[in-house]
Amino acid sequence: MRILITGGAGFLGSHLCDKLLAQDHEVVCLDNLFTGSKDNIAHLLNHPKFEFVRHDVIDPFKYEVDQIYNLACPASPPHYQYNPIKTTKTSVMGAINCLGLAKRVKARVFQASTSEVYGDPTIHPQPESYWGNVNPIGRRSCYDEGKRVAETLFFDYHRENKVDIRIVRIFNTYGPRMHPNDGRVVSNFIVQALKGENITVYGDGQQTRAFCYVDDLLEGFVRLMAQTETVGPINIGNPGEFTMLELAENVLKLTKSKSKIVHKPLPADDPKQRRPDITLAKKYLKWEPKVPLAEGLKKTIAYFRTKV
Ligand code: NAD
Ligand code: UDP
Repeated sequence: MRILITGGAGFLGSHLCDKLLAQDHEVVCLDNLFTGSKDNIAHLLNHPKFEFVRHDVIDPFKYEVDQIYNLACPASPPHYQYNPIKTTKTSVMGAINCLGLAKRVKARVFQASTSEVYGDPTIHPQPESYWGNVNPIGRRSCYDEGKRVAETLFFDYHRENKVDIRIVRIFNTYGPRMHPNDGRVVSNFIVQALKGENITVYGDGQQTRAFCYVDDLLEGFVRLMAQTETVGPINIGNPGEFTMLELAENVLKLTKSKSKIVHKPLPADDPKQRRPDITLAKKYLKWEPKVPLAEGLKKTIAYFRTKV
C-alpha cells in the first residue's frame, strides 16, 4: 500500500515510518518539523519507498494513498502550549484536511487521539465509554479540546460521508527518539539523571501515569488499521500504573545516577491519575503490551546516552 503519515518525522511517526517500510509499504512522510526532526528519519531519506514532504497540515494536501495516519500535532505540554492557537488549528484543520483527502481518494484514515480527552478523570481506569472531565478554557485545553473536536470530525465524516475511519486514544508512550527537551516526564527524568542534574518531580509526585513502550503502541496502531470490526475509539496503552516518584526512583536505579529528587510546582489542570482500560484492545485487536517499564526504560536510557 501507499501510506501517508502526517507528523512522520516526530517520535511516534518516525517509528511508524520504519514499521510500515519494513512491511514493504510505500511511505509518504509529511511534517512541518515543528517538534519533529530530519534526524529521526535521516536513515530513511535514501530509501526507495520513502518520501519526505515538508508541509503544514493546516494547509490542504493531495496524495493518491490507500491509508492515512494523522499524527501531526505537538504532544508535550510545553510544546503544545508554546503556540496554543496553532495547536488547536493543527488538530482541527489537520483532521479536516486528512478527512477531506480520505473522502476523495477513499483511503482508510487513522487519528492519533489521546488519553487527554478524558481530562482529569473521575473514573479509574478509563474506558472508552467515559466522556471525560476536561477544562475547556485552561492551559491544556488547546490540546485536549483540539483532539476532542478531531474525534467529532472523524465521526461526522464517517456518519455523513462514509469515510473509513479508525481512532486510537494513546496513553503516555515513551522510547528512543523522544525529543530530549520536550518536557515530558520520561525524557526529562532520564536526561536529568544522565547529566547528574536534579530530577524535577512536579507537586508531591503522587500523581500517576501508565507508560507504554513505543514498539507495543505501534503494534496496536497497525492492528487497528488492519481490522474491520471496530472504528474505535480504542485505548492503546500499558495498564501498569506508577506514581511520578516511583518513575523517578526507577530512572535513578537504572541510570545509577546520583541526582537528587527535587519538587517543583504542579502545572495547572495536571491529571491526578491515568490508566487505560484495554478491554476493547484485547477483544478487537488481540493486543496487549509486552514490554515492562524497566525494560523499556533501559532501551530509552541507552538512546539518550548517545544524545546527552
Ligand atoms: P512529536 O511532537 O514527536 O510528533 C509530532 C509531529 O507532528 C512532529 O514531527 C511535528 O513536527 C509534527 N507537526 C506538529 N504540528 C504540525 C503541523 N501543523 N503540520 C505538520 N506537522 C506537524 O510527538 P509524538 O509523541 O510523536 O506524538 C505523535 C501524535 O501522537 C500526536 O498527534 C500526539 O498528540 C499523539 N499522542 C502521543 C502521545 C505520547 O505519549 N507520545 C500520547 C497521546 C497522543
Ligand atoms: N512531570 C514531572 N516532572 C517533569 C515533567 C513532568 O513530575 O519534569 C509530571 C507532570 O506533572 C505529570 C506527569 O509527570 O503529572 C506526566 O507529564 P507529561 O508532561 O509527560 O505528560 P502528561 O501530563 O501529558 O500525561
